[in-house]
Amino acid sequence: MSNSIRAVRGMNDILPDETGLWAFFEDTIRQWLSAYGYRNLRTPIVEQTDLFVRSIGAVTDIVEKEMYTFIDHLNGESLTLRPEGTAACVRAVIEHNLLYAGPQRLYYSGPMFRHERPQKGRYRQFHQVGVEALGLAGPDIDAELILMCARLWRLLGIPDVRLEISTLGSVESRTVYRSRLINYLEKFADELDEDARRRLHSNPLRILDSKNPAMREILEGAPRLLDDLDEDSLKHFESLQQILRNQGINFEINLRLVRGLDYYNRTVFEWVTDKLGAQGTICAGGRYDGLIAQIGGKPAPACGFAMGVERILALMLENQVEGVAAVPDVYLVHQGEAATEFAWKVAETLRDEGFKVMQHCGGGSFKAQMKKADASGARFAAIIGDDEALAGEISIKPLREAAEQVKADLAEAAALLRNV
Ligand code: ATP
Ligand code: MG
Repeated sequence: MSNSIRAVRGMNDILPDETGLWAFFEDTIRQWLSAYGYRNLRTPIVEQTDLFVRSIGAVTDIVEKEMYTFIDHLNGESLTLRPEGTAACVRAVIEHNLLYAGPQRLYYSGPMFRHERPQKGRYRQFHQVGVEALGLAGPDIDAELILMCARLWRLLGIPDVRLEISTLGSVESRTVYRSRLINYLEKFADELDEDARRRLHSNPLRILDSKNPAMREILEGAPRLLDDLDEDSLKHFESLQQILRNQGINFEINLRLVRGLDYYNRTVFEWVTDKLGAQGTICAGGRYDGLIAQIGGKPAPACGFAMGVERILALMLENQVEGVAAVPDVYLVHQGEAATEFAWKVAETLRDEGFKVMQHCGGGSFKAQMKKADASGARFAAIIGDDEALAGEISIKPLREAAEQVKADLAEAAALLRNV
């Protein structure tokens, strides 16, 4: 093994036994998104580094230490593997002038890359599905996004997620709050941990998110953003809560909720589970009204969220959700030259009829082939020997139920398989 090449640390192979669950998730996602009128946007995996620095913010975990950034030696450009999807989505919307046609309901999905310490629920390549509504300002769209999530958890069979919401107010109200928070924290300058000290003047709101018990104790007495909230943001937050209540969506207000990216304002939310240990946030998002202008577009409001696919799948497994089984309907057993010749035709004909057919390859005795048929999980074995080939018939043997083996000619076989 010492000489063999292995996958990059923190980047996982997704094996065939696992992809059935992925397929169930992906099929569900596609139907769910189209039920709400969201359309798919696909952007490249690599972007100019500046896009992420300008949108996510220079003093954030992602930009400070998690990005896979490299120089394209062919032209000297600094490029970055995308650590998240919103920035690229907004870039594409601006570049192709999509908002000219009116508000856009969009989604993306695919791998993201962050250089983090790999652990359960935290990888260096992971997958997100992100949903973005651009050009809409009201709390109604915030509520739509949250409602969508609630439906998705039902569709996926994961009941045990709770919703936390908060508001970050406007940029102006946050500036006022920021200096009040700095004033407060400066009184504890000697007790702050390294992270908090480093962030005190560059990104103090991030300190609110600290997991360090000592920091949390200090934060108990910290001023609250809610007290500095501008009137419009407060109204927005209250209307959102009203819609959620009317729609029967339970939520908790968590004023410590600060998202890991700088571009959020007003509504922020997270869906959290206690069933996955420390990495319990499966979906997170909020409003980012300033971002489009910040990366060069005509100002427009926007709101969105991203979910961590690996964490959601882990939660589905916890709940014994089954994926799409990739088993054939029919395993085709054949022996002898004429039989094999006929088998090719049988297999293609049954596939034309919509059956999943696995044709035995590699020869071997009937007995050995029947063992393979059984192991394949197929419901039927279709057996062709020289006698069958000569008569243009197929013997159909049910493998999972106690029914008789029957013979049919090629024209009848499909109907017979449907009716057994
Ligand atoms: P965390 O606090 O867990 O680091 P984050 O705030 O960095 O999360 P976001 O940028 O909001 O995460 O990403 C949205 C979702 O993507 C997260 O809620 C999580 O489910 C998932 N996610 C983020 N980073 C990773 C990772 N390294 N591995 C697996 N999933 C991740
Ligand atoms: Mg993170």
